[in-house]
Amino acid sequence: MASIFGHAITTIAIGKSFPKSIIRWKFWLLGIGCSIVPDADVIGFSFGIKYNSFWGHRGFSHSLLFALLLGVVITILFYSKDLKRKKTITYILFFTLCTASHGILDAMTSGGLGVAFFSPFEDTRHFFYWRPIQVSPIGIERFFSERGFSVLKSEFVWIALPSLIYILSLFVARKVNSKKKLEK
Ligand SMILES: [Zn+2]
Repeated sequence: MASIFGHAITTIAIGKSFPKSIIRWKFWLLGIGCSIVPDADVIGFSFGIKYNSFWGHRGFSHSLLFALLLGVVITILFYSKDLKRKKTITYILFFTLCTASHGILDAMTSGGLGVAFFSPFEDTRHFFYWRPIQVSPIGIERFFSERGFSVLKSEFVWIALPSLIYILSLFVARKVNSKKKLEK
């Protein structure tokens, strides 16, 4: 895993790309939830589920299909009033992206097994060729150690900074756009 912070910051960068009209506190909370949920699979370790199995860590819960399913389920459960409107697709897209971003970040980390992006169709675990993010220790105790600190440092450089630059560019682009509209 990348840490919870890394996943949450990515969610904010993704969410900022969406129309302001649909962004409410629920949107953020659920989005951040989606970006963290895949790691619920670490529970499997206590039940003897093998790391490299279907339900193992970075298995099905980190796949693209799981991301889409979670996106659909969250939208149905929490945005039932909007189901007949165009917004539905926008919500599904957002929650799917938040969930999928988890696996994408994990595939850029330096340790553990790769991510089963194409589960259940194909079980191979994948990493990207470029893996600059230090893998975060599993468990809170281990996180608040020296290793945890160096994970945060690496996430700051490789996740937080690019996210902030992205959010800032969006902000500038929108300002320029609205200025142009006013001038017309
Ligand atoms: Zn993970």
